[in-house]
Amino acid sequence: MSDLVLVLNCGSSSIKYQLLHADSAEVLASGLVEKIGEAHGGRIVHECGDRKLVHEGAIADHRAGLRQAFEMFRETGIDLTTIGVSAVGHRVVHGGEVFWQPTLITDEVVRTIDELSVLAPLHNPANVIGIESTRELLPDIPEVAVFDTAFFHAMPEAARTYAIDAKLAAAHGVRKYGFHGTSHHYVSERAAQFLGKPVSDLDQIVFHLGNGASASAIAGGVAVDTTMGMTPLEGLVMGTRPGDLDPGIMPQLMNAAGLDLAAVEQLLNRESGIKGLSGVNDFRELQQLIDNGDAAAKLAYDVYIHRLRRYLGAYLVELGRVDTIVFTAGVGENSPAVRADALAGLSGFGIEIDPDRNATRTPGVRVISPDTAPVAVLVVPTNEELAIARAAHRLVGAG
Ligand code: ADP
Repeated sequence: MSDLVLVLNCGSSSIKYQLLHADSAEVLASGLVEKIGEAHGGRIVHECGDRKLVHEGAIADHRAGLRQAFEMFRETGIDLTTIGVSAVGHRVVHGGEVFWQPTLITDEVVRTIDELSVLAPLHNPANVIGIESTRELLPDIPEVAVFDTAFFHAMPEAARTYAIDAKLAAAHGVRKYGFHGTSHHYVSERAAQFLGKPVSDLDQIVFHLGNGASASAIAGGVAVDTTMGMTPLEGLVMGTRPGDLDPGIMPQLMNAAGLDLAAVEQLLNRESGIKGLSGVNDFRELQQLIDNGDAAAKLAYDVYIHRLRRYLGAYLVELGRVDTIVFTAGVGENSPAVRADALAGLSGFGIEIDPDRNATRTPGVRVISPDTAPVAVLVVPTNEELAIARAAHRLVGAG
């Protein structure tokens, strides 16, 4: 069977896609559909080898976006219906308590993902639309859902339970689920491979620091805690999300500042975090502001680092020991300053960074701790698309 997989990541107004070989990781084509459903700014950028096609114009819905993207595949010589795609792998954000394995998509599975939208109203509906549109456009290719929550399904009860009315929580699925699981799983396995040890022998702390950010504690390959919660708002400070907040702040703001529910959601999802504190959400812009002496930007950075260190400490104690600390995603892979500041002054715990290694950028997995340090600190580029492609290919290959 061919190992070609089309991976789709459907957001509320965007679709990221990649056509790749699950075995070799070779990418044949990739693209981004943006501003779906908006009157202005609709755009598809499609890359295939050294060719780059750009389509500009309103994109009515996800189906129209996919249809146009598939047309761009054809323009670069790839007909998705005949090239031998073995599976379409969908990133699905919330699997609730139902899904923790890659799952072959059936009508029943789509219905259940849709029902789980109550837990992820910003994400699961877009995933369902993406799945349904693909089924119409590529009806003969099996589809597989890979869930962002899956890796965290086995967290101990004490780590995943919120201390609120137990009946209310049970009735409404209120518990910690965790997100970015595909990335945490992938980089923790890559780290073990790199160190030449079975993942079951390693206790790891992983920092996935992108626009969204999360940390996890992984004991012998099993995730035992993570910073994101029932929704992707909890935990670390992020580009536009605050991470941990005193729950009393929201009713207070609703009372005192007159915010309604929609305004609170907007505040928490789009206007908080680094952006709320500094006005920018991109870390490169933040760095620029700091270099120019901007005090608000410096405070945003300090709050970000303080939160990272708080969870590092928590996870060190939860695990009781740590073999490996892994940094991944946009900020984690690219910001030596964040890595150095997150781990500064911890040599008493066996945690050290070699400044030259930290500053030297090389492709692939790299170690940034000195060889003599007991804890291996690694930078591991994440590749969620490859992890989804491999999971989907394994599942349809086994079927
Ligand atoms: P997501 O997939 O969550 O949208 P990414 O993993 O692509 O996000 O990470 C995006 C973040 O990474 C942005 O804040 C961006 O500024 C940051 N980033 C990318 N490159 C660099 C860099 N060279 N230095 C510092 N930050 C970077």
